[in-house]
Amino acid sequence: MATIISNAALADFSGTFIERGYLVLDGGRIGAIGGGAPPDVPGAEVIDAEGKLVTPGLVNAHGHLYSSLARGIPLKKFSPQSFREILEQLWWLLDRSLTLDDVYISALVGGIWHLRRGVTSIFDHHASPAAIEGSLSAIKRAVADELGMRCDLCYEVTDRGGMEERDLGIAENVRFAKEDLVPELASAHMGLHASFTLSDESLEKAAAAAEPLGLPFHIHLAEGKEDPVDALQKYGMRTAERLDKFGILKEGTLLIHGIQLSGAELELLSQRPASIVHNPRSNMNNAVGAAQVVKMLSRGIKVGIGTDGFGADILGELLSARLLAHHATGDPTVLGDGELLAIIGHNYELAGKFFGLPFGKLAEGYAADVVIWDYRPPTPLNEGNLLSHLLFAGISEGLLPETVIVAGKVLLRGGALVDVDEDEAMAKAREAAEALWNRL
Ligand SMILES: [Zn+2]
Repeated sequence: MATIISNAALADFSGTFIERGYLVLDGGRIGAIGGGAPPDVPGAEVIDAEGKLVTPGLVNAHGHLYSSLARGIPLKKFSPQSFREILEQLWWLLDRSLTLDDVYISALVGGIWHLRRGVTSIFDHHASPAAIEGSLSAIKRAVADELGMRCDLCYEVTDRGGMEERDLGIAENVRFAKEDLVPELASAHMGLHASFTLSDESLEKAAAAAEPLGLPFHIHLAEGKEDPVDALQKYGMRTAERLDKFGILKEGTLLIHGIQLSGAELELLSQRPASIVHNPRSNMNNAVGAAQVVKMLSRGIKVGIGTDGFGADILGELLSARLLAHHATGDPTVLGDGELLAIIGHNYELAGKFFGLPFGKLAEGYAADVVIWDYRPPTPLNEGNLLSHLLFAGISEGLLPETVIVAGKVLLRGGALVDVDEDEAMAKAREAAEALWNRL
C-alpha cells in the first residue's frame, strides 16, 4: 500500500529542500516528491505532517547490539589500565555470558533505541562466544523480522576462545550469509574481531571462507596500541599492512576506528577501496586517542560513522566527531559541514551497497526510509543547512523522531512503536539482564 506524507517541510543532506510539500512512498521506494498538494493515489494512507520536517533515515555503520544489557552492570573489578583490560574486565566477560535469548533481547532493545534516534539501517558486529551458532539469526529476527529495520550482520571471529570457537565463528558468518539474508533488509559481512586476536592461520581461514560468498570484512583496526604492537612484534609489520596481506582491505570492508595508524598505513589505505568507520564517543570513552579523520578524508580514504555500541545517536556522533577533531588538532575549522556531509554520504553509500538500493536522498527511486521530526526551526531552514539544524536541535532541544518509516512501512508512529510492545521488550530485557549479571 502506498503512503503519502503531506504538508511537510522536506530536506536531505544533498541539498534537497521543499518548504511545504509531499512525499509518495510506494513499493519500498520514494515514488514522488513535490511542492504543494500531493497527487491523488487511490488506496494510499495519508500522513498529515503539517508543520513538521521530513528527512531520510540515518545509518549506523558500526554497532554492537549485544552490549544493550550492560547498562548499570555491577562489576567486581573494573580498573582498566589499557584498552585490552577494558575488553577483559567488561566486554569479554559480558559477551561470554550471553545466551541466544540474551542475544535476541539485546538486539530488540538496541534496535528500538536506534529507531528512536532516526537510525533505519545498522551494520552490527556481534560476539557471544558461548552461543555462536544461530546468533546472527537471533539478531536478524529481532531487528529485521520484528522491528522491520535494515541490518547487516557478522560474527566477530577471534582466537581468544580457542580454535573450536574460532571455527564456529567463521561457520556462523557463512551459515547466515547462505541461509538467512533478506533482499534489501538483511545482509552480511565476514566478521573479524581485530588483528591482535587473530593468527595468520585464522585470517587465512576466514578469508578463504569469505571468498566464494563474495563477503567483504568487518574488523576493528588499530583501536588501541595493542594492535600495532602485536602486529610489529609477531609479524614485523603494521596492522593495516598485515590485513592487506590477506586481501582484507577490499571494497565493502569496514575498518573500524583506525586510530593507531602510521603515515605509511594511511598511504596504503588511500590506495585501497576499504572504508574506515569513525566512532568518536567510544574512542573518547576508552581513552584510545583520536583517528586522523581530516587527514583520511583529504587523502581520499572513505570514512563513515558509527556508535561502536555506545548508544544509538548517530547525529550526536557526528557532532562529537567535530568536537574531537577540534580538540585533537587545536583547529576550530576542521571537520566542517562539507567533511561531515561526506561522512554521512559514505554511510548512505554503504547502505546502498549492502541493501541493494539507493539511500539518503528524498528523490524518486530512493529507499523509502524516512523520519518525521516535530521540529519548528528557530532560524531559516534551507537548501544547505539541514545538518546544522539537526546537530544543534539534538543537543539544545533533545530533538527525537516522531515517526519513522523503513522500506515504506511505518515502524514508529507518533512516538510509539507500531508492531512491537516496547514495555514488554524492556521488561524481558530487565529480567535477562539480571540473570546475565548473576552469571558473570
Ligand atoms: Zn566495535
